[in-house]
Amino acid sequence: MFLNSLRSQLLTLSIAAILATSILLVIFAMQAYQDLYRQGASDDLNGLSENLSIDLMVMMSDEPDIFNIANLLLKLDQYENVRVAAVFDENLNVVQPYFGKVITSRENSGDLIQQVDFSEYVDLSLGMHAVGQDIIAFKRIGEKGFPLGYLLVVNDLSKPLRLSTLDLILSVFPFVIITLVVTATLIISLQNKAIKPLLDLSDFMRKIRKTKNYGLLAQVKGKKELKVLTEGFNSMMQEINTEVEKNRMQTTQLLDQQEQMQKLANFDSLTDLPNRQYFISTLSQKLEEARLIKHDLALLFFDLNGFKWINDSFGHEVGDKLLCYVANEIGTLVKDKRFVSRLGGDEFLILVENVSSQHELLSFAKGIRDKLSQPIVLDGWQVEVGISIGIALASDANYSVSELIANADVAMYSSKAQDRSTCTLFVKSMMENNKRKISIASALANAISNEEFTLFYQPKVDGKSKIKGFEALIRWNNKDLGFISPDEFITIAEQSGKIQALTLWVIQRVCKDVPRLLNIAQDAVISLNISAYDLRDSQLISKISTLFDTYEIDASCIEFELTESAYLENFDLANRFITQARNKGSFIALDDFGTGYSSLSYLTQISLDTLKIDKQFVDGIGLSKRSNTITKTIIEMAKQLDLQICAEGVETQAQASFLLENECQLLQGYLFSKPLPIEALEKQYNTA
Ligand code: C2E
Ligand code: CA
Ligand code: CA
Repeated sequence: MFLNSLRSQLLTLSIAAILATSILLVIFAMQAYQDLYRQGASDDLNGLSENLSIDLMVMMSDEPDIFNIANLLLKLDQYENVRVAAVFDENLNVVQPYFGKVITSRENSGDLIQQVDFSEYVDLSLGMHAVGQDIIAFKRIGEKGFPLGYLLVVNDLSKPLRLSTLDLILSVFPFVIITLVVTATLIISLQNKAIKPLLDLSDFMRKIRKTKNYGLLAQVKGKKELKVLTEGFNSMMQEINTEVEKNRMQTTQLLDQQEQMQKLANFDSLTDLPNRQYFISTLSQKLEEARLIKHDLALLFFDLNGFKWINDSFGHEVGDKLLCYVANEIGTLVKDKRFVSRLGGDEFLILVENVSSQHELLSFAKGIRDKLSQPIVLDGWQVEVGISIGIALASDANYSVSELIANADVAMYSSKAQDRSTCTLFVKSMMENNKRKISIASALANAISNEEFTLFYQPKVDGKSKIKGFEALIRWNNKDLGFISPDEFITIAEQSGKIQALTLWVIQRVCKDVPRLLNIAQDAVISLNISAYDLRDSQLISKISTLFDTYEIDASCIEFELTESAYLENFDLANRFITQARNKGSFIALDDFGTGYSSLSYLTQISLDTLKIDKQFVDGIGLSKRSNTITKTIIEMAKQLDLQICAEGVETQAQASFLLENECQLLQGYLFSKPLPIEALEKQYNTA
């Protein structure tokens, strides 16, 4: 554990290294010292033995003078370390031995003397020898070539060496210890200084790991390598921090988007109420629960009477505010906001749980009606709406979601039919009236593939009764339902989502007929009716282009008629369509002009070619001075806006004359021709 830290490991290693070096140094010093000592001792012994051998020459010249030799050898007593010595004759026989203090001072000196064997030295060469702890001098007595004998002196150095080494160690030891302590302290402090930035960095990393704050930066200090390390670490941290920040931002963005998508998918963006889909899922769940416990539920369906009028008269902003106001008011009347929904437009649904009696249900509905019927002020306008409520019970609809909504819808229409602002509870007999609507909607589904539609064309003429255009008008003949008027089935086609297919069928039919129509009237413009629902298809214009290309139609011989209400309901979509169509070279007419009750200011903001005065104004011509003035004013205004004028529903010569007098350029009506199949038109005009 202790050795786990870098600091302690370094410390241990350094101390071990210092200790080893010191020990080695001492050993080497001792060795050197001992060598020196030996060398000195050897030199001394060499001198001594040389002198002795010179002295011995006289004593060995004849018969060895044993007495003097022994005396001479006794001089060696002064030398403490001489173990043995001996004088040999020329034949290497011991003449006189000598045993020094090394032996004689010992208790067992007798035994030791016994053990001395001089013959082991006689093989040595002449001179100085070091054998083990001994230094041996073996000298010749006499001249070279005439040896008189030999002298052996053996100096035992073991004791003096031991003593002097001990001396040395004792004298050196304190210095070694001091050096050791000083170097260790120095190394520790240097090491600390050197690795401190490293330790700081590791502390810093620990801190980051704990706090997860990747925005911190380490202070750059220490030597070059540490600086590189710290800078590398910091740049890594910065990168991590950027990534973490990026991740965090992406996650919040994703969560926001998810929440937004959830909201968009389930809630109406204007009122924040649950949308149709979300409400229906809540409703089916509640219906299932109610069915299991044999409970009844009620559904309230209502819309705002005169909402369209308010929208047209005060503008869409006021209309939107009114819808929000209504949503808010209902919110305060129900216990759970999930039980209220805006179906679209001005239609609302309310789910009522725990129905105790019909009476109570009706008084709840009337409470809502009364609350919403009070006049309110929006953007400075005093606005008053009535509401017609339809109520249906789950038990009457077999707990089926679609049946329940359809029943409440039928009950609401029944309310509207009776009087404004009534509350009606659904009864089964009401369904009968709805049956035709349903059968028309289902018959429409296959009408195109069954080729049940035909197209009629109604001419538009100028003041000289010359044909200037044709309006394409659809006709439907169904084998079960018979002939159905477009006024009836177009609305149903719009509501049941079938209008777009129908419009495309009409455009294609017109494209096929264009050459024949132009053959009837060379410079005729053929008009097509476009529904408000068609404008929701963002691909409409490209589909039209494709058809034009396929049938090689010059876009400038086509005019699109948009009703004023279709324009006002979707002015953004309508403006887009108008711009695209005009850019292609086609014309735009505003149909049923004057029926929208709207402020006319929008007319200056859109690019139109023609205004079609609605039949109701033509009908009024000649009936009163006021009617005449209104029609005159409309024509006058169109002139000022530089628009072409077409009057529709012209049935009498008097109407035609009045219109022409007031410079209306185009006339359309039964007076000139009813809508006819192309064959009939060809027959009538080509032969004329
Ligand atoms: P609209 O666009 O206003 O068409 C004029 C309507 O007035 C036509 O009714 C036409 O037959 C009728 N009309 C023309 N001159 C006279 C007249 O002198 N007296 C009377 N009483 N009526 C006259 P139609 O063909 O029944 O069409 C009714 C409505 O159905 C059209 O009104 C138009 O809004 C819609 N419609 C017809 N065909 C199409 C179509 O192909 N597409 C779309 N989206 N709507 C169509
Ligand atoms: Ca029309
Ligand atoms: Ca019209």
